[in-house]
Amino acid sequence: MKLKVGVLFGGKSGEHDVSLMSASNVIEVMDKEKYDIIKIGITKLGKWMIYTGDTQNIADGSWENDRECTIKEFSIFDHPMINEIDVFFPILHGPNGEDGTVQGLLKIMNKPFVGCGVLASSVGMDKVYSKILFENAGIPIGTYMSLYKSEWVLKSSKIISSIEEKLAYPFFIKPANMGSSVGISKAHNRDEMLEGFMEAFKYDSKLILEKAIDCREVECAVLGNKEPRASVLGEILPSQEFYDYKAKYTDGDKSTLIIPAQLDEKTTEKIKDYAVRAFKSINGRGLSRVDFFIDKNTGEIMINEINTLPGFTNISMYPKLWEETGISYSDLVEEIIRLAIEEYNS
Ligand code: ATP
Ligand code: MG
Ligand code: MG
Ligand code: MG
Repeated sequence: MKLKVGVLFGGKSGEHDVSLMSASNVIEVMDKEKYDIIKIGITKLGKWMIYTGDTQNIADGSWENDRECTIKEFSIFDHPMINEIDVFFPILHGPNGEDGTVQGLLKIMNKPFVGCGVLASSVGMDKVYSKILFENAGIPIGTYMSLYKSEWVLKSSKIISSIEEKLAYPFFIKPANMGSSVGISKAHNRDEMLEGFMEAFKYDSKLILEKAIDCREVECAVLGNKEPRASVLGEILPSQEFYDYKAKYTDGDKSTLIIPAQLDEKTTEKIKDYAVRAFKSINGRGLSRVDFFIDKNTGEIMINEINTLPGFTNISMYPKLWEETGISYSDLVEEIIRLAIEEYNS
């Protein structure tokens, strides 16, 4: 009997388009002899639809308007097709998908699902809380501050001087909960800081501000449940001043990924150890990609962040790292589905 897999894609998130790219690649590679795939698209406005049309229409978003196909709005709790699903595969990035909300829904539905549970997803998405846990686990982190919109509105001038004192320019401004560099900027002066706050507050009412590190960027993929493993490392050479949305997805000559990263063995092993520790510190399950900085001047390793549902196209860092470690893209998809069922039954 084929396993019925409910693939969730799109989502009410600034990373909607990235999810469409990941999902269409994953669906293409899934073995149709083994899996019966039920495609569930979520629009930018948060409407859930069962999509029975061609997978090719997912990546560019045209699935939503595809007249040839039956797109049905439905109630997730009482649709016969949904009840039959054996395991869910949420290929959703960012808020309302990677942050524990959808994971909570699937848990209440009592279905196995790929990836981290509620706690790991929500703290993993929040860059402030995850840093607290990383630090607690003995993983070095950079200098940062958090900033709520309500504080900013009430005490702007006091806050400006404390930020300039603690972080100095340039520093990074990020929505606390987001991904794909959406809403992120690097402030070199006060004007850019004010602009950066306005931009980042569009996505979240809480920000994280981080001292800019002159760094090499290295990423590690983690796979497993209670005994997670780390992949080889990959280095990113961004095509822009930093690895922003353009450098990730739209730049003509995109950023370069160097796999495996050219690092000495001691540094490599240390980063792999930190990656597994970071995964365990948030109570991770299934998969995550952990991003690091290596200070170019001091050689110091610092964790940047964890991504519990990392980009999953066939050219994304996460699958590429496992390919280099010895697990093909299609085997990787099978493995994370197997891990989802193992976790559910444990
Ligand atoms: P994703 O989830 O797609 O990896 P994200 O939106 O969660 O991205 P970050 O990884 O935190 O964002 O930051 C995006 C990029 O900004 C980094 O890859 C790096 O190029 C740059 N960057 C972020 N923080 C710093 C920092 N403190 N110092 C130097 N560069 C930074
Ligand atoms: Mg991220
Ligand atoms: Mg991310
Ligand atoms: Mg990152």
